[in-house]
Amino acid sequence: MAAGEEPLEPCCKDMAAALSFETGRHFFVEDGALRLLVAHTPLLDGGEAELENVVRYCPFCGKPTEAMFEH
Ligand SMILES: [Zn+2]
Repeated sequence: MAAGEEPLEPCCKDMAAALSFETGRHFFVEDGALRLLVAHTPLLDGGEAELENVVRYCPFCGKPTEAMFEH
């Protein structure tokens, strides 16, 4: 079972569209919270670090993202 497969109801169509990008996704669900991938940082050893933030309010319509998990 892949991570980030929790069912959620996007609060608006803009969020639904943002969540539908499978490749190069920026919004994703982890540990029951909506997160936004902020940056990929290349590391000296050839790997990369990911900087992510928990998104508490939808940047498109301003509703609390928690509401997407309550149905
Ligand atoms: Zn929204």
